[in-house]
Amino acid sequence: MDPHSVELPRKILVGNRVLGRVSSVCEELKISGKPLVLTGEHTKDIAGENVKKSLMDINPDTQMEIVKEASKKEVERLDKIIPMNIDIVVSVGGGKVIDVGKLLAYQEKIPFVSVPTAPSHDGVASERVSLKDGEAFHSLKARVPIAVIADIDILRNAPYKLIASGGADIISNYTAVQDWKLAREKGEYYSEYAAALSMLSSEIVLKSTEMIRKKEERGIRNLIEALISSSISMSLVESSRPASGSEHMFSHALDQLKFQAGINKSLHGEQCGVGSILFAYMQEQNWERIKNGLRSLGAPTTARELGVDKDMLIEAMLRAKDVRDRYTILNERSLDKKKALDICKATGVID
Ligand SMILES: [Zn+2]
Repeated sequence: MDPHSVELPRKILVGNRVLGRVSSVCEELKISGKPLVLTGEHTKDIAGENVKKSLMDINPDTQMEIVKEASKKEVERLDKIIPMNIDIVVSVGGGKVIDVGKLLAYQEKIPFVSVPTAPSHDGVASERVSLKDGEAFHSLKARVPIAVIADIDILRNAPYKLIASGGADIISNYTAVQDWKLAREKGEYYSEYAAALSMLSSEIVLKSTEMIRKKEERGIRNLIEALISSSISMSLVESSRPASGSEHMFSHALDQLKFQAGINKSLHGEQCGVGSILFAYMQEQNWERIKNGLRSLGAPTTARELGVDKDMLIEAMLRAKDVRDRYTILNERSLDKKKALDICKATGVID
C-alpha cells in the first residue's frame, strides 16, 4: 500500500466562553505575526470583534475582513485586498467564512484557526472545502486548521435551523460509509478506522437528538464534538469519503437545480439528511432510524419541508450520480423517474 500522510489539528478547545482564548492558543502553538480575522456580516458582532480584540493583545495590527460568499472569486478578492504580511488566518463564523479562510490560508501557506459560530456542518476541522461558483461545485483541498476553538455559548445561541442542519449532516454519514463499503468491493481504498469514527459521530448525534433540540449544553457539546470527529475522519484519509456519499451528491445536484430556479430555502445538512433517508432505502439499510432521528432533531424529512417541489427533488436524485466521479449505491442500482418516485413514496419523502 502507498504511504499516506495525515494532517490533523494540534489543539481543539471546546468549552464555555473560550472565544477570548484565541490569542493564548496562538501563543501556546507558537504562532506569531500578523493575524487576519475573517468573519461574516452577522457573526462580526456575535464573535468576530471579540476574537479580534483577543488577537490585538499579541498583535495590535490585527486586521478584520468580512466574507461575503463562499466562492473561489471571494478567495481571489480577499487575496488581492489583504496585505502581503499576513501570518495567520482566523475564521470566525459559519460554513462560508470557514471555507474561504481555509482555502486562503492554504494558498498563502500560512496557519489557519477555525472558530465556528454555528454547529451547522462538518467542515469545521477538515482539510476539504466545497465552494460554489454559480452552478459549478468544487471540492478542493485546503488547510487543516492548526486549532479549532468551539465556544459552546456561542454555538448554542446559533439559529436552531443551523444546529439541526449540522445534526442532519452528521446523521447522513450513515449512508456515506455504506457507499464507501460498496466502493471497497470495487477496489477503492477504505479505512476501517476513519469509517468507524464517522459512524461513531453519527451514532452520538442519533442518541443526542432530544438534548440537541432542547439546546442543552450536553447536546450541543455532543454535536460539535461529532462534527469535529467527522472532520477528522475525512482528514485521516485526505478525502471527504467517510462523510460524503450519494446523499451529498444528491444535495449538490439539488443546489444546482435550486440555483437555476432562484430558490434558496434549504441548507446543506438538511438536504443531506433527506438524501440519506432516500439512499439508505436503496442501500437496504435502516432508513426509518435515520428518518426518526431527523424528525426528533426537528430537521426536514420531506420535499415539502425542504421547500422544493417533487419534480425538482426527483430530478436531483437522477442527477446525483453525475455530480462527481464517486462510486456509490447509484452505480449499483439503476434509477429512473418511476423508481425514484417509488422510493420517495415508500419513505414518505413525497406524500
Ligand atoms: Zn456535509
